[in-house]
Amino acid sequence: MDPHTAEFGFELRVCRWAEMAWPPGEPAGDDSEIIVARQLGTKGRRWDTIVLECDPEGLRRRANFGPDRLDGDLRHVVRNAPAEWTYYRDALPHPGYPWRYVREAIHRADDRGILETRKSGNRIEIRRKWPYPDWVDRIVAIENKPDLDASAARALGSQLEYDVAVGLADEVWVATRPTGERVEPVLFEDLPVEAGILAFDPAAPTAEVAWYPRSLAVDEPGTRILERPDGGARDDSAARFEYVEPEAKAEKRLAIAERAYERGWRSFVDTMRPDCRHFQLRADGVGDAEAAGSGTAGQALPYCAAKGCAQTAAECAGTCPDFEPEPPAWRTRGWPIEGGPGTRYKEILDRRRRRRRSGL
Ligand code: SF4
Repeated sequence: MDPHTAEFGFELRVCRWAEMAWPPGEPAGDDSEIIVARQLGTKGRRWDTIVLECDPEGLRRRANFGPDRLDGDLRHVVRNAPAEWTYYRDALPHPGYPWRYVREAIHRADDRGILETRKSGNRIEIRRKWPYPDWVDRIVAIENKPDLDASAARALGSQLEYDVAVGLADEVWVATRPTGERVEPVLFEDLPVEAGILAFDPAAPTAEVAWYPRSLAVDEPGTRILERPDGGARDDSAARFEYVEPEAKAEKRLAIAERAYERGWRSFVDTMRPDCRHFQLRADGVGDAEAAGSGTAGQALPYCAAKGCAQTAAECAGTCPDFEPEPPAWRTRGWPIEGGPGTRYKEILDRRRRRRRSGL
């Protein structure tokens, strides 16, 4: 199988497994709730899978603010909005950028129904509807490498060193396919000891911990590695790095959590072509979308009938040579008037995504 296809399917299965069985190696407790997302991070580093361990009560209160993320400007407003009517410039700390952007954010928050506003003369006054809750306990990053050979491990090693140095996630893991040997050979490869290793069987799906991670110091200053010497015999230059303050890290963590909350991991369909006649959503072991939508079956995964395999998000685009729009008749006979199977697939995934967010 094409390695990209294999990696994409592996990643979706890791996401599904994490949603059901996180944390690995422990019985699931009810003291935290899990939100899983994929392909998120910072400008310099994108993680394959992200697991948010959330405070259940905080998560329910976060739902007051709706399913869409709160960007930095909105967070500045709702986190500092007072309990009593107050002129916005008296209520909010100076944002470090012009106040007109704050006014824009206030209007957006008002439009979304997450802030109360009124005019008093020329002045805009604001009052909070709900306090913004502390809803994220921990952020866990998982890199998915189904086939971790020596060269893949070397490349991954420097990415993980970056994660460990910055300490933006509480834990980092590598998920890889088990080899069946007594000691997973990946343990001998060049990965930082702080990273955990999961031997993940995508068919089951189940995971065993081959190496436990160390918790990273998210509340302490981090070090962002900007450049590292290549280490050759003539290269004695020093690595370049910069410090990242704990406040900046906390803000970045919340930004990542908000995006994860909005997107989840089933949003893969947003960048694919479910309106193509060959697009299918298959439930593991059951094989059709109806079962996938029933909520009782296994995982709903994309499948391309033209290619006869699970396609990647990159392949399944308008540039795909096999793309054919779904016939108009599919939109009128037996399917809801609003759309054909493509629309229905999106609805199935949206419903599942919502079910994972308490209070929505
Ligand atoms: S034919 Fe191309 S666009 Fe259509 S479902 Fe398959 S991969 Fe996606």
